[in-house]
Amino acid sequence: MTGQSESAAAASELPVLVVGAGPVGLTAAAELLRANIPVRCVDAAEGPYQHSRSLAAWPRLLEILRGLGVDLRDPALGHPCGGLRYFSANRPVLSLDFRAHTRPMIVGQPAIERALLAALTNRGGSVRWRTRLVGLEQSEHRVRARLSGPDGGTECAEFAYVVGADGAGSTVRKLLGIPFDGVTYPIDFLLADVRLHGENRVLDADKAYYFVSDHGILALIGMPHGRFRVFTSAPPGLGRAEFGADPDGALAVVQRLLDERGPGGLTATEPVWCSAFAVHARHAGRMRAGRVFLAGDAAHVHSPAGGQGLNTGVGDAHNLAWKLAMVWRGGAAPALLDTYEPERRAAVAAVVRDADLQTKAWLLRNRGLRVARDLAARAVSAIRLADIGYLPRLAGLRVRYPTDARPRDARRSPYRPGALAPAWPVLVDGTAVPLREALDPGRFTLLIDRRGRVPGPALRELADRVAAEWSSAVDVRTLYDGELRSGLSEQDDRRGGRLATLVLIRPDHYVLDRVAERHAHVLRKRLETLLYRENGRPVEPGRPVLR
Ligand SMILES: Cc1cc2nc3c(=O)[nH]c(=O)nc-3n(C[C@H](O)[C@H](O)[C@H](O)COP(=O)(O)OP(=O)(O)OC[C@H]3O[C@@H](n4cnc5c(N)ncnc54)[C@H](O)[C@@H]3O)c2cc1C
Repeated sequence: MTGQSESAAAASELPVLVVGAGPVGLTAAAELLRANIPVRCVDAAEGPYQHSRSLAAWPRLLEILRGLGVDLRDPALGHPCGGLRYFSANRPVLSLDFRAHTRPMIVGQPAIERALLAALTNRGGSVRWRTRLVGLEQSEHRVRARLSGPDGGTECAEFAYVVGADGAGSTVRKLLGIPFDGVTYPIDFLLADVRLHGENRVLDADKAYYFVSDHGILALIGMPHGRFRVFTSAPPGLGRAEFGADPDGALAVVQRLLDERGPGGLTATEPVWCSAFAVHARHAGRMRAGRVFLAGDAAHVHSPAGGQGLNTGVGDAHNLAWKLAMVWRGGAAPALLDTYEPERRAAVAAVVRDADLQTKAWLLRNRGLRVARDLAARAVSAIRLADIGYLPRLAGLRVRYPTDARPRDARRSPYRPGALAPAWPVLVDGTAVPLREALDPGRFTLLIDRRGRVPGPALRELADRVAAEWSSAVDVRTLYDGELRSGLSEQDDRRGGRLATLVLIRPDHYVLDRVAERHAHVLRKRLETLLYRENGRPVEPGRPVLR
């Protein structure tokens, strides 16, 4: 045991409670179990939700889930989305084709949840369905939760931490008295998952089509197994309840809107899910209260424009789980948990802003503004502007976490503090693997990007300190000539090479800091601030840990 007080140590033997077994709760629970942290996951529902709200699984999500052994690129689960096509008054205005690194998979949410549930159960975990969180109290070292089980009885249990991943209506958030401020859009939306038959036009099943007109927005998105999702703004006067209640009536409404707003010549049949819903843009006032954290829809909801809700929520769970695991094990200062909210709040704010902008652009009524929107869309399409900004953002690759790291080596470097480490291929035991995926997702990595020079004393001292004091939390890896090796590899040393670049990479593969070899002591200071040493000495108190 390291520099923690006795009572905190006792609390750290308690499990973590994950409330909600949607995609966000399942990710949090599976990540924690992978780190060998005891977890209980409960959900009020009878079992997994059967309809697919989310369809777009963006590259960063694919990568996070691959870390859990879930590969959504499996053709049995879905298909890659080739691109987006926008039409205004039935004239093409924007055509975006994804490149390999920004291309999402189209996978139904139930398939993602099934795969995550399997990842959880493969690690010995489970979900207790029909178990609802009904009460929460917390003290400095533990949280007491009241759970109502399938038989109607209630049970009180203690936990070290609670992750509230219980969706937009979050009980956890309400019990904590955290406001959920924001707006509800003045228009409802309808969706229907149907088969489309084209009389005079065939849509590519691997594309998403958006038609904006005086009537509103209509999107047609190719789904797995030959269906299309019809997603459209509700016409005035159509009641939400009335649309969902009667599938035949709903199909007739969808057909009318398809004729009125779509490309024409399409017939919708065999609806499997028709739903009408309001769209909100809301943030929880806080994402943390003491030992309780909010993640996913419990913390933020926004328009489905851009298909980001599930992706962003899983990003929350991923950011939180490694921090909880390190603090729970007593390997890192509890201050590490303070970084969750500011990091995710900034990431989420950007997503909500983009989704809001896109939704408002869909629904513009002013003719002048619509002309300006279409001109801007044509310009973006012509010069492929989206390739450098919008699409990497949608792909989840542009999230930057706040950092005070100011690398002293002025050279342009692919290792940018606050950003994801590069994903270029490196050789591991003769096989090419993206760098990020070659790093252990549960540990920090000290990456030594060697340029041929014999390691100097500052680097040797750092590597020795890591081995002596943080070997259970930090891996040392050498990247030399495209090959990734364990430890401070001195193979291939030759005189005359350049000094190495040293990069400290977090377990979630964001770059914490980068220094030139002669400044190795800067990384040592960072580790001292962040991690407890294995010889029992505490971290320096009172310093922000990840900045
Ligand atoms: C039409 C539509 C399309 C969408 N498309 C996309 C898309 O393409 N890409 C994307 O990323 N996102 C999309 N989303 C958003 C995505 O579906 C959500 O962001 C995602 O489901 C949020 O996951 P979650 O785990 O946070 O919450 P949820 O999936 O809502 O899960 C919360 C769970 O908590 C349980 N629960 C609630 N209260 C309690 C309690 N008191 N005790 C115990 N359990 C409780 C519930 O039963 C539920 O299982 C879309 C949403 C909609 C509506």
